[in-house]
Amino acid sequence: MGSGSAIRGSRVGAGPMGEAERGEAAPRIRVAFYCANKHQVVPSFAHDAQIPDEWDCPRCGFPAGKDPENPPAPPKTEPYKTHLAYVKERRSEADGEAILQEAIAKLRAERAAMSSALKSFTD
Ligand SMILES: [Zn+2]
Repeated sequence: MGSGSAIRGSRVGAGPMGEAERGEAAPRIRVAFYCANKHQVVPSFAHDAQIPDEWDCPRCGFPAGKDPENPPAPPKTEPYKTHLAYVKERRSEADGEAILQEAIAKLRAERAAMSSALKSFTD
């Protein structure tokens, strides 16, 4: 196969959309952050902005740090937890499907109960 990752025409330091090239008036700093899931996020900051120590990974919600070898530990008892659990459930599709079906069945039952209640009310 090819010698793949050679030259792609974009320079180091340019954003995926080339915004670093255009924004001459306000130079921006791009800082790479790494989360515990090995995602990389490279937000850009105004040159005079304060660079935070951590950044929320937009892909998994984990905190991401500047050291790829030592990313911040994922939160354990954060409000994120339910959201993460939900994401995990979606990943195992069988489980997700079962939960979905259960929810739909419940909804239908409730709706049926309500409409029959309404009917007997209007009769
Ligand atoms: Zn992540």
